[in-house]
Amino acid sequence: MKCTCMHDLEFPKAQRKQVVAYLVDFATLSKVQQQTLVIQWIKYSDVIRRTLPYGERLNPKVFLLPGTEEMICGHGLQRILGYGRDAWKTIKDFAKKNEIPKHGLIGKHGNKMNIVMQEDCLITLRKQSNTLRRGLLNLSGG
Ligand SMILES: [Zn+2]
Repeated sequence: MKCTCMHDLEFPKAQRKQVVAYLVDFATLSKVQQQTLVIQWIKYSDVIRRTLPYGERLNPKVFLLPGTEEMICGHGLQRILGYGRDAWKTIKDFAKKNEIPKHGLIGKHGNKMNIVMQEDCLITLRKQSNTLRRGLLNLSGG
């Protein structure tokens, strides 16, 4: 089912700016930092869902639209963050198992950057700018 919860939102320009500012900050985080944050959001969303009256527990809007106090569904958040189905599933699994993602390079190299690490940084940077671009496209209704 296609998510429409962001269509229902009134989306004033000031709020769009807040979302974009948040996404820019988010994009500067490392992949592990991003995942750790999203895992917390998923946990909060479960807590929020449990506090809803019984008849409303299927309400999908249990996530905050980043940078705002508006509620959206998981699909909406997934789209804004530019997460594909697999990336989202990976993160939900981490949340379910109460695990913290680890960066593959932590503890394996010294401080000096070798070619592999430089390439890893470039790949991360490229992914982050793609995430950002997708988020911005989604916000502009693309
Ligand atoms: Zn939605």
